[in-house]
Amino acid sequence: MKPVPAQPGWVYLVGAGPGDPELLTIKAARLIGEADVLVYDNLVSRAVLGLARPDAELMYAGKERGNHSLPQEQINQLLVRLAKTGKRVVRLKGGDPYIFGRGGEEVETLQADGVHFEVVPGITAAAGVGSYAGIPLTHRNYAQACVFVTGHLKDGSMNLDWPGLARKRQTVVIYMGLSGLSHLCAKLMEHGLPPEWPAAIVQHGTQPSQRTVTGTLASLPKLAEHANLRAPTLIIVGEVVTLRDKLRWFEEDRG
Ligand code: SAH
Repeated sequence: MKPVPAQPGWVYLVGAGPGDPELLTIKAARLIGEADVLVYDNLVSRAVLGLARPDAELMYAGKERGNHSLPQEQINQLLVRLAKTGKRVVRLKGGDPYIFGRGGEEVETLQADGVHFEVVPGITAAAGVGSYAGIPLTHRNYAQACVFVTGHLKDGSMNLDWPGLARKRQTVVIYMGLSGLSHLCAKLMEHGLPPEWPAAIVQHGTQPSQRTVTGTLASLPKLAEHANLRAPTLIIVGEVVTLRDKLRWFEEDRG
């Protein structure tokens, strides 16, 4: 593969993966190492930022729940401004930029302002967590489909297609679902999944601080509360969760 020199005045929207820096793509690692400026959000791990040039400028544009340090519109404009100074800008986002990452909105602004851009996919949290927690997201015996949804609460509830989610032979992966966990489990049971249906929640997937709590729709909310998990966490619902007993391999933090 011939290395292509990064071009000044471009913005590279780069997926930083779920945390373990070895899960970056080769392209992502190269662009991070070549960037003049990196604009990163709070899900990007320190280990990944450590690949930047020592003289690169690191700008935090992170968002934590309830604490928007830079409104999205300002992030969009910042990227346009930086690109127009001729710098090689890497916009780093946790996981994959086009999965619950508002990457589409940022690129729409770049496109509207005539800034050249490229998008580099990353390993999304679902894929990273599935592998490192020993939970295959699909499996011929348990699930032929896998759905990714956001569990972000709006006005205290989740606006999701519950009948579509509460199905057997399907895995449901919920991003941003920790604070709505009991609501989520209750809704899935209300729409027909049994209380003993397997479910797991994983903190800091692929990182040394990874912790996994498994249970059922009935038990998981209490178990998670006792475990005192810290964000980011990912919830996986479905029979594939039972495979973890056999397939786990990653040494987790015991909490
Ligand atoms: N673009 C990201 C998702 C951004 S939304 C991606 O593709 O992964 C943020 C949510 O992603 C978090 O609330 C959490 O649910 C999930 N997440 C991201 N990284 C995670 C990790 N290392 N472990 C567990 N969940 C993670």
